[in-house]
Amino acid sequence: EEKANRYRNENSISVVGRHVPEPIKSFQELSSSVDSVLLANLAKCGYTEPTPIQKQAIPAMLEDRQILACAPTGSGKTVAFLLPLLQHLQGPQSSGFRALIICPTRELAKQIQQECIRLSDGRNLKIHILSKINKAITQYDPKKSNGKYDILVTTPNRLCFLLNQDPPAINLNSVEWLIIDEADKLFEESVRSFRNQLQQILKACCLHKRRVAMFSATCTPIVSKWCVHNMKGLIRVTVGLRNA
Ligand code: ADP
Ligand code: MG
Repeated sequence: EEKANRYRNENSISVVGRHVPEPIKSFQELSSSVDSVLLANLAKCGYTEPTPIQKQAIPAMLEDRQILACAPTGSGKTVAFLLPLLQHLQGPQSSGFRALIICPTRELAKQIQQECIRLSDGRNLKIHILSKINKAITQYDPKKSNGKYDILVTTPNRLCFLLNQDPPAINLNSVEWLIIDEADKLFEESVRSFRNQLQQILKACCLHKRRVAMFSATCTPIVSKWCVHNMKGLIRVTVGLRNA
């Protein structure tokens, strides 16, 4: 444990929480816990060494822990959540969306989808972003689609529009992982409305074993407070200066 803390210090990683898994030093260390296909895809992307946030967030999420991960822009947060997520999901299933990734803009949703496609190469997962609302209403009609999707990437507005249809035009009751990316931006742009949207989304993600992972460039008080109140067994990971 002391050795792990020294390694965290060297990497400017600080953690708060109980029984925090040890950070990894290399992707090779994951060879017993992550499928070789995924590790090969990382290498194909040219990712040879994990970034500090990846070193701590990946082992935490692999152990099914709920995390709030704060690290500066450009520090590799996308891979930090996609790799453990893809390991959890394994191959395609037809039970409906099993992972939901929320982010502030459509452009970012597209980038996340692209990265997800690259990292899951060979897995055949169906990774969707909500496109035109009208199309989406028929496309995700619970009566028509029988869960031919695995991962959904979307902004909260588009998702809540579908949830607000009567009856709801999308079904989230198979979601095992809810990832919130750029949480600081989502909460800051419209604090109250995003908090309300998030409550609605959480309610729709009604699976008992559903887990939440939140990623943010800055660890704002609003974000931390929400996580402390809503995420059981929370691990907080911060990279860089604690109060930056
Ligand atoms: P953030 O979400 O923290 O702003 P991104 O996930 O967008 O950062 O990653 C920033 C850049 O770093 C991307 O171009 C990504 O491909 C690259 N990257 C991610 N992980 C690694 C890694 N382990 N090694 C090298 N480059 C990486
Ligand atoms: Mg990002």
